[in-house]
Amino acid sequence: MSSIRDDEFPSHTGIPSTARRATGEIPVVLEVPAIPVTEELLKALPKTDLHCHLDGSMRLKTILALAHEQKVKLPSETEDGLARAIHMGEVCKSLEDYLVAFDVTLSVLQTADGLYRAAYELAIDAAAENVKYLEVRYSPALHQQKGLKMTTIVDSVLEGLRVAKRETGIKCGLIVCGIRHMSPQTSVRLAELCVAYKNRGVIGFDLAGAEVNFPAKDHKDAFQLILKNNVNCTAHAGEAYGPESISQAIHFLGAHRIGHGTRLREDGDLLNYINDHRIPLEVCPTSNVQTGAVADLKSHPLKFYFDYGLRVTINTDNRLITDTTVTNEYWTAHREMGLSLDDLTTIMVSGFKSAFLPFREKQDVLKAINAEIATTLQTFQRKLTAVKVPA
Ligand SMILES: [Zn+2]
Repeated sequence: MSSIRDDEFPSHTGIPSTARRATGEIPVVLEVPAIPVTEELLKALPKTDLHCHLDGSMRLKTILALAHEQKVKLPSETEDGLARAIHMGEVCKSLEDYLVAFDVTLSVLQTADGLYRAAYELAIDAAAENVKYLEVRYSPALHQQKGLKMTTIVDSVLEGLRVAKRETGIKCGLIVCGIRHMSPQTSVRLAELCVAYKNRGVIGFDLAGAEVNFPAKDHKDAFQLILKNNVNCTAHAGEAYGPESISQAIHFLGAHRIGHGTRLREDGDLLNYINDHRIPLEVCPTSNVQTGAVADLKSHPLKFYFDYGLRVTINTDNRLITDTTVTNEYWTAHREMGLSLDDLTTIMVSGFKSAFLPFREKQDVLKAINAEIATTLQTFQRKLTAVKVPA
């Protein structure tokens, strides 16, 4: 059998049937039945979450429990009060408002047990909505307030993800984040940590943090080390700052994917470069509204990017702070942006294509996902037909 590129993964019929397919992503499942899109269906389909922050994705109950155990003072002792204090699911007035939540979550993520539990529960919650592949990201430098070693910080999270995988089968990878507003030297230390843990659970490096006034190119030494060691990398760019930030992420840092890319539409030339090179965008629609990167969901560029042919993926960013799930983000893309079931299943497959996984492993994953999408769609179609047939 000849080898196949992931872009050219064979479909059931092998014949693209719409004009969109001639220019856009080639869908794996070409015969998407005409069934209604429901949250139940989106939850049942296999998905990825490639852009998910550990410290933004804890359970409220767990923050309260860990604070109690660790004797940490929180802004509120109740779930409702805490949800309000961290502006959970609210559109934030300022970046400061948005960042309050991370002060709260980070206050209970300074112990090995806290980190283990947050990682374990995140993977369990993702698996419960049929996320088959999860990439969790965080910056170990933010978990040293009580003197934890960098290695303990990484090992605790990896252990949480491993146990969740044993229990549910969810595949997980860990991304280490450099932070724009921390010193470039700190990013280099984090890159060294990432390199040491390559092939030991850590699958990539990222640059997160405040985009404005903190250009990506300041952190190019860290990314040089990452690239020299053939480690995958991504960078938050084009969320709070314009296309120049995305250009720097690609040309100075060598980013293989872009986190958000919301403002890419302002630069057609760069947009085409990203399209031509099949550089995936990690799109997080609801989070973009919450942080003010877009005015509302209707004006979000996701559908335009998809229709144009860009490789887009749909992600949560922060499950807790944005009060969302992967299922909810797909549902929102359908309800608010008009993406069809055909579009959504193609984006699901793009998530797996964009995973920081070795090529051969990715091919195996894609084969399994292809089959699972087809089976799930058939099951829902049969259920629908069964309901329609009179007794
Ligand atoms: Zn993010």
